[in-house]
Amino acid sequence: MDVSIIGSGYVGTTAAACLADHGHDVVNVDIDEDIVASINDGESPVHEPGLPELIAEHAGGRLRATTDYDAVLDTDVTVIAVGTPSRGDGSIDTSVVEAATRSLGETLAQKDESHLVVMKSTVVPGTTDELVASTLTDAGGLTVGEDVHLAVNPEFLQMGSAVENFQQPHKIVLGTQADDEWALDTLHELFEPIVDEADPAVVETGLREAEMIKYANNAFLASKVSLINDIGNICKEFDVDAYEVADAIGLDDRIGDRFLRSGLGWGGSCFPKDVAAIIAAAKSQGYEPPLLEAAVEVNDLQPQRLLDILASHVDLNGARIAVLGLAFKPGTDDIRGTRAIPVIEGLCDRGADVVAYDPVAVDNVREQYPALDIEYADSAAEALRDADGCAVVTAWDEFAALSDEFDDMASPVVVDGRHVIERRDGLTYEGLTW
Ligand code: NAD
Repeated sequence: MDVSIIGSGYVGTTAAACLADHGHDVVNVDIDEDIVASINDGESPVHEPGLPELIAEHAGGRLRATTDYDAVLDTDVTVIAVGTPSRGDGSIDTSVVEAATRSLGETLAQKDESHLVVMKSTVVPGTTDELVASTLTDAGGLTVGEDVHLAVNPEFLQMGSAVENFQQPHKIVLGTQADDEWALDTLHELFEPIVDEADPAVVETGLREAEMIKYANNAFLASKVSLINDIGNICKEFDVDAYEVADAIGLDDRIGDRFLRSGLGWGGSCFPKDVAAIIAAAKSQGYEPPLLEAAVEVNDLQPQRLLDILASHVDLNGARIAVLGLAFKPGTDDIRGTRAIPVIEGLCDRGADVVAYDPVAVDNVREQYPALDIEYADSAAEALRDADGCAVVTAWDEFAALSDEFDDMASPVVVDGRHVIERRDGLTYEGLTW
């Protein structure tokens, strides 16, 4: 098929490279000239394992990029994969979706054949059949169901394994309007090469259901982590190891053994944004979802719990505290929603001098939090030297290998937020929930 993808960030670039790899002719449309040039030069504009190789292989062949929306006229399908950032109140900002849809509508006004518009960005229920539909009609005089057909295909990839997740998905959700067989058939054709190879579950559903499935998926996972953290906090009060408890309850297949690692909580570009967005959307309809609000509350509590445990061993006022890890999870330099920021801000509020280390995320924290008055170390060993205490924030493998480095601390106290450090003689070690 001839496919256009609007937006060439993590999702759009991954989708484009993978669909090209599966035999489609794909054009990425992005307003950012550097991103477009990078793809056309055969280079990946985002850091994702496997993506540089796919782009190098297909750029100039089945994959190209442009800033010119006219490119969609030579395609059968347009996938919208632009950002849907959070507003201050947690609701999603749909202005980028609206702008992209308007440009698309104006362009599609020149096309004679039917065109499928697939919403891949994460949007709250009703966005596609209301905002997108009305924008296409207003901008291009297009009739939905005739000139343009609408679909929703939410994306479940995770950063750090985006290519693998796109090519080996556990499910593909195809949302279309009732009785729009043309849209459903076209979607099936788009994903046929992936379905043939990876055999995922294929879910046929409505537009709003498809939009909601994405939020329900992330809200469920985030809540599962908050629930095990809540249970973990109770465990800690009774001197019970929450990991032993989690291992046992995970044997019950109604619970499952994944997402049961208690600790400092969730972050990243999706969980905080998506949970906040679905809470805000629910409230806009007059429903305040108590469980999801509690999931956020528990997540906000965990950094405070870590600081309280640390303060029970070290007088934080004037103490030198090593913070190990700044990225929201290991394997990425992404610091969006990282638990490191509330930990560091809490330490500073309590009068501590912070020395932070992360193998890849230091530059991002320096750039995005210039007001943080802290020191950065070049290694975990340097951060630990002469420290009065240590908070472990990110589960990097290299922290698990630390050993003699703790001997160089002024007072060897470690509070581990991620269950990565081994207990050892001479070290005052506390787990957050164990
Ligand atoms: P991103 O910010 O990395 O990329 C968005 C791209 O859209 C940018 O390259 C930007 O230049 C481009 N853009 C902005 N306005 C445009 C316009 N008018 N026309 C064309 N291009 C335009 O975003 P992302 O991380 O790829 O996320 C995209 C969507 O997918 C979001 O809704 C997000 O919630 C969702 N999602 C993201 C992930 C993830 O892990 N990143 C996973 C699943 C779903």
